[in-house]
Amino acid sequence: MKTSTLTRCPACGSRSIRRVRKPFRARVGTRTITIPNLEREICPDCKEEFFDREANIAIDAYCFGKSRQRA
Ligand SMILES: [Zn+2]
Repeated sequence: MKTSTLTRCPACGSRSIRRVRKPFRARVGTRTITIPNLEREICPDCKEEFFDREANIAIDAYCFGKSRQRA
């Protein structure tokens, strides 16, 4: 089942928030990872990005699921 989509930006209250599917780059420790086609909500007004449950699971899997490193 699909998680609900935001209709208002929790940060600034804008209703222009939209769902996008784009590559996502994140810094994890000393590495930078890129997740292709990560779906998330972006507010065009304040540039805030919001990750739903699925997106967070994908990020976790990328960061910790693959190529684990010693701390
Ligand atoms: Zn906003």
